[in-house]
Amino acid sequence: MRCASGASIIVQEVMEEEWTALQSEDRRLPSLWGPQGMAEDYDELAVFEEIQQELMSQEMGIIEEYERNLQFEQQYISSVVEGMEVVHIICPVCCMQNLHINSHFISCPCGVHINTKKQNITPDVLQHLLESRLSEHMENCFHNPVFSVAASTDNPSSLMISCQVCDYLSIVL
Ligand SMILES: [Zn+2]
Ligand SMILES: [Zn+2]
Repeated sequence: MRCASGASIIVQEVMEEEWTALQSEDRRLPSLWGPQGMAEDYDELAVFEEIQQELMSQEMGIIEEYERNLQFEQQYISSVVEGMEVVHIICPVCCMQNLHINSHFISCPCGVHINTKKQNITPDVLQHLLESRLSEHMENCFHNPVFSVAASTDNPSSLMISCQVCDYLSIVL
């Protein structure tokens, strides 16, 4: 919705007020009117035009600000839509919650916390890693593998996939 017409109404209202103010000023100063009435009238017109110019530029300012807000709003909406398009990956360890994935770590309320600072893991990359490990295991075994986080004091924790039936063990991440 554009509010340009609304701004015009405001300009008109303000101008009417100015006009009324000018008229009442004239009434207070009747001596200004007289033989030079026409000249005064001309000056007044110039002042009036000046006010109009000023109000028009104010109106432009209002419109510009409105458009800036609109632009911001659109950016916000598109960022929200982008956020919704992000692949949600259910935590493979607890199979309950969505993994929280950012540029620094992957985490889950169940306790999974894997530092990914140097690996640039996006949800797409992680999904691909999980799928490739799962299909790798499925080539030889029909059982469901389990995911776990292996943590040691020396190395940063990593996500492991393992299967007790076929002794498959691999690092996902
Ligand atoms: Zn979890
Ligand atoms: Zn297996």
